[in-house]
Amino acid sequence: MATSMDDILSLCRRRGFIFPSSEIYGGIAGFYDYGPLGCELKKNIRDAWWRDMVYRRDDVVGLDGSIIMHPGVWMASGHVDGFSDPMVDCRESKMRYRADQLFYAPILVDDQVIGYVCVLEDTSMETAALEAAQRLKSKLSVRGELQPLQLVCYTSASETVQKLIPSPATGTPGTLTPPRAFNLMFATHVGAISDDASTAYLRPETAQGIFVNFKNILDTIHRKLPFGVAQIGRAFRNEITPRNFIFRSREFEQMELEYFINPDADWESLHRKWVDERLRWHQSIGIRPELLSLQVHAKEKLAHYSKACTDITFRYPFGQQEIEGIAARGNFDLTRHQEASGKSLEYFDEETRQKYIPHVIEPSVGVDRVLLAVLCSAYDQDEISGEERTVLRLHPCLAPVKAAVLPLVKNKPELVHMAQDIRKKLTRHWNVSYDATGAIGRRYRRMDEIGTPFAITVDFESLENGTVTLRERDSTEQQRMDVEEIVAYMTTAINS
Ligand code: ATP
Repeated sequence: MATSMDDILSLCRRRGFIFPSSEIYGGIAGFYDYGPLGCELKKNIRDAWWRDMVYRRDDVVGLDGSIIMHPGVWMASGHVDGFSDPMVDCRESKMRYRADQLFYAPILVDDQVIGYVCVLEDTSMETAALEAAQRLKSKLSVRGELQPLQLVCYTSASETVQKLIPSPATGTPGTLTPPRAFNLMFATHVGAISDDASTAYLRPETAQGIFVNFKNILDTIHRKLPFGVAQIGRAFRNEITPRNFIFRSREFEQMELEYFINPDADWESLHRKWVDERLRWHQSIGIRPELLSLQVHAKEKLAHYSKACTDITFRYPFGQQEIEGIAARGNFDLTRHQEASGKSLEYFDEETRQKYIPHVIEPSVGVDRVLLAVLCSAYDQDEISGEERTVLRLHPCLAPVKAAVLPLVKNKPELVHMAQDIRKKLTRHWNVSYDATGAIGRRYRRMDEIGTPFAITVDFESLENGTVTLRERDSTEQQRMDVEEIVAYMTTAINS
């Protein structure tokens, strides 16, 4: 059975993974807080990315740049002038839409247009449009056959047609405004005086921090091309319609790599290599391969400086959507920053004695979208001894709690003492919990639901021979193990 968003939302709420931000004040659209388990899961995703992109490679170094940068950065990068989405308002309901997420169609009955339908982009938008068309047809008492609807994007509607398209909120034609560009950057003021000169922006992507530090890094680590700079950090976009939980929010986290290459290098094969490598990474952390796909951007839809872009997409419950983009960006960003700052951002190639601005391949992924894909992949329901259980089949490296230590009974001091000792020993390596309340089966179930891969039970035999039972979450099988063996056993599973 496919996992639904309701399953995920309810689990996140029930077990404290994710909360709406500022909930006691009614929340704030597009912002979320990660609770005790969510922040562990998120940290483990960041750590897995950093481990594979920085530590396990010898050609990538890290950076942690500031969120607010010189406003000139965003002028040069093109964000001040061009980082916008087309926005449409409904004058009647005051609802706001992204024009490229609105789809409309003329309603044709026997080749006559009897009106229009307009729906929000969604996996069920065809059905919603058909129902709206049927409603209008019977309201107008029109006889004849309804022709199939051809939904097209609102951005392609002429001004005359725009006036005939109904608002998805009210169904009234003519209340939607023409699309206008809405810049997605959050502006703020730096210093005591709030005027145009003090305007600064919260970064809408982490990548520019890497470009403006290119020279600093080059001068201090003396790397030869090709090499990469990796960064993980918060990014902010004033999305017109934040939706689908943490998939599209206004504050999120990105993990970005800029991989600098020689302009004469075979960029196509390097780009392909990065696409393959990144796809493998998503699979390696437990995202289900059958839900992952690649989407190659059509050449004519690329930004003028971009040579190629491939998205890794995931089949979320609300549709197949981008989780990561891998772009070949040429030398656009470094060139723009060199021109605007007047500082050379050239690389000197010792071998060929040439100076040039490197080109770049950019794999860019959102932590929150990975986390949602991980939860959707891991969520499962099965039956154990005739009882239904919810289980998160997380890769051990991502599990928020790596093991639960459970004394069989809580009123036997020697058992409790031994269990506490084991817990203490394991917490030197991982986040491990201790649970002494309730029947053992219920304690196992609580841990299964949050994806804890191992449950270690201390029983009466443990006191006699120093062994415990180790239960595996997925198979529910138990094996007796010497206490001294646990760390090595868990290390193998977590690092695999
Ligand atoms: P989309 O088309 O979905 O808006 P994008 O192409 O604008 O995404 P990029 O600018 O390429 O996204 O950003 C790189 C990555 O950052 C995305 O693949 C995604 O994982 C993440 N990301 C972008 N915008 C958001 C957002 N509003 N909320 C959560 N993650 C985001």
